[in-house]
Amino acid sequence: MSGDYQIQGLAISAIAARFGTPLYVYDAEVLERVYEELRSLLTPKVELFYSLKANPNISIVHLLQELGAQAEVCSMAELHTALQAGTNPERIIFLGPGKTDAEITACIRHGIYAIVCESFQELNRIEAIAAEEGRIVPVALRINPSFTVKGSRLTMGGKPRQFGMDEDTVMQGRQQLERCSHVDIIGLHVYMGTRMLDVEPIVENTRHILELAERLEEQLGIRLQMVDVGGGLGVPYYEGEQPLSVSALSAQLNPLFEQFKEKHPDIRLFMELGRYLVGTSGMLVSRALYVKESYGETFVVTDGGTNCHMAAVGIGSYVKRNFPIASLSRYGESPVAEFNITGPLCTPNDVIGKKVNLPPVEQGDLIGVFHSGAYGPTASPTHFLSHGSPAEVMISGGEAHLIRERDTPEDLLGKQRLIPVSHSAVTNR
Ligand SMILES: *Cc1c(COP(=O)(O)O)cnc(C)c1O
Repeated sequence: MSGDYQIQGLAISAIAARFGTPLYVYDAEVLERVYEELRSLLTPKVELFYSLKANPNISIVHLLQELGAQAEVCSMAELHTALQAGTNPERIIFLGPGKTDAEITACIRHGIYAIVCESFQELNRIEAIAAEEGRIVPVALRINPSFTVKGSRLTMGGKPRQFGMDEDTVMQGRQQLERCSHVDIIGLHVYMGTRMLDVEPIVENTRHILELAERLEEQLGIRLQMVDVGGGLGVPYYEGEQPLSVSALSAQLNPLFEQFKEKHPDIRLFMELGRYLVGTSGMLVSRALYVKESYGETFVVTDGGTNCHMAAVGIGSYVKRNFPIASLSRYGESPVAEFNITGPLCTPNDVIGKKVNLPPVEQGDLIGVFHSGAYGPTASPTHFLSHGSPAEVMISGGEAHLIRERDTPEDLLGKQRLIPVSHSAVTNR
């Protein structure tokens, strides 16, 4: 079976034949290894939260919570997912700039560890709902700090953003906070950005956030119980990107966390991670439907386009950069030519990889897009051309388990309603 890519001893051709394509395949062993490595290198003084946004599949969430991760959720469905995956409510935080009354109420009724509040208006809503519910609700303030550190592929802090509360606003807000008698301000949250692959900016961010926590306690006269320093640890996607060295990172972060804990033994320290925990464990597997030439270039039209992997398009960069892409049918064979890997959509933007060096590609071959475990189908326009979500499979203990069924036309039509508009009703208006 030369060239047939394997996961935990299972041939990808057999997996694809059994579950169909396009298909997301997650290797639970890789996921476990990534988590255990990070957990063993970071000081136990810091607690890890999994950001469900990166991959909200309930089996992934369950695996991570079994490994010891707590949960950071951002919607009603993510809250339900974490709970159904077996997460204790005391190990859940809820975050996001647009929480509805229904979401705030659910957080309160389930008794989650903290709501991360992103504005004073939101704080007033939490206060009002908590009063109605007759509860005192633990709340952390998400702060948009006055500092920013370069090195994030998407900067969230230190500039105008809809997220969190400006540092100055919070520092002036003591009276507003004191007016809330049903809210207990227990913590501080800062998220600086995503896709960070360098140690330095992460360490600098963390140092600034821990200092901010001390200033905040003093200025607002509150006793913090937790500080969430965010995360944003990245996974390499493009040529030339090096994986983040978690041993180098831990060597510099651990002393910061340990010193802080020495001064403030009662304050819990949190990091929240999405992409880093799940990114490398997943792969999009698609099948080459057609291989064709056009004005000197070769196109491989697959059944898995940007409708199931929008991230592979490479948002925000003018030059198209490719995710790691390989032929899974001729894995390890030498490249012979450049291929454009496209999908089934009727738009020229449906390009997964441009000028990818691959061995010969024939109709029916399997193509893999690696490092695709984060921000895959759930961050893609899966309803475009009504293809629906692809199937998802987890390989665990040498066995393949379906963890999400592929959408069918019936699934997509099932939510729609055909109303009996007659022709005459339209023309006689
Ligand atoms: C998106 C997001 C995360 C997860 O980010 P990753 O880069 O996937 O680790 C964590 N916290 C907040 C506030 C986010 O918005």
